[in-house]
Amino acid sequence: GAKAGGRRTFRFFEPEMDAVARSRRELEFDLRHAISSGGFEIHYQPVIDLRTDAITGCEALLRWRHPTRGLISPAEFIPIAEDTGLINEIGGWTLAAACAEAAQWDDDITLAVNISPVQFRQQTLALLVASMLGSTGLPARRLELEVTEAVLIHDDDAALTTLNQLRTLGVRISLDDFGTGYSSLSYLQRFPFDKIKIDRTFVDSVDRTDTSKAIIEAVVNIAASRSMTTTAEGVETEPQRDILRALGCTQMQGWLFSPAVPARKFRALLDEHRNTRAA
Ligand code: C2E
Ligand code: MG
Ligand code: MG
Ligand code: MG
Repeated sequence: GAKAGGRRTFRFFEPEMDAVARSRRELEFDLRHAISSGGFEIHYQPVIDLRTDAITGCEALLRWRHPTRGLISPAEFIPIAEDTGLINEIGGWTLAAACAEAAQWDDDITLAVNISPVQFRQQTLALLVASMLGSTGLPARRLELEVTEAVLIHDDDAALTTLNQLRTLGVRISLDDFGTGYSSLSYLQRFPFDKIKIDRTFVDSVDRTDTSKAIIEAVVNIAASRSMTTTAEGVETEPQRDILRALGCTQMQGWLFSPAVPARKFRALLDEHRNTRAA
């Protein structure tokens, strides 16, 4: 009957599902040792002011160099780290390492660090951030924390408390991947964000699709009316940049200027641009 057929179908897929599960268990195991074995690296992607073309900041993006599998994307390992709770340790390491690096730079630019919703639910997050700023000497106004709408979905009051504690420290808060979640516009009204990061999906088609252009224009205007700035993510072409600039978007980030690069290369980029500005 149907039941027996269902079972046979299930069995048919079993070996493949086993392989996926096994691969994930292996990654989970390796992830546990990645911090202590020096497997993580932070890359920095410059953020450009659309009016002046100057580098005004950067975003820290985590990279995992796996001993046998090579470079693994955060899109693959961050969800595993979140499911296992390892994200708290990994996120803490990232925050400490990125703040220590940025405190060394001669330029007064911002450092953006992504914070997982799992980390955000730790009631000690603001305390952790304060202690990182204290130990690295990075001024609070140079740190931006990027969160997604997911932090706001479960417990509005706790999230609001944490957001306010962080802002009291002088740290800025950005809403990442804007436009990809649920009731985005209502969140803008309820929470005190400093910046909206417009997701790459809208930026990608801004020079081809009127809807994308209209959406970005609306977001830029809403942000401006609430004293928030806007950053366009994933800017890859000059036509995209020109439209974003014309729409009044504040900053851009993307391969057009530079992908995320290792710390040494990012410092070289800063030097190069300082010289250009001085010349
Ligand atoms: P995100 O925070 O939205 O970061 C932007 C992503 O877009 C990065 O991918 C970046 O490399 C990529 N990108 C930048 N410019 C371009 C472009 O012009 N074209 C295209 N196609 N892509 C571009 P990445 O580094 O693979 O990171 C993916 C996501 O993983 C991040 O999205 C963030 O959600 C998460 N992630 C990365 N590092 C961390 C971290 O330290 N902690 C946490 N919790 N999440 C992280
Ligand atoms: Mg981000
Ligand atoms: Mg994003
Ligand atoms: Mg993203």
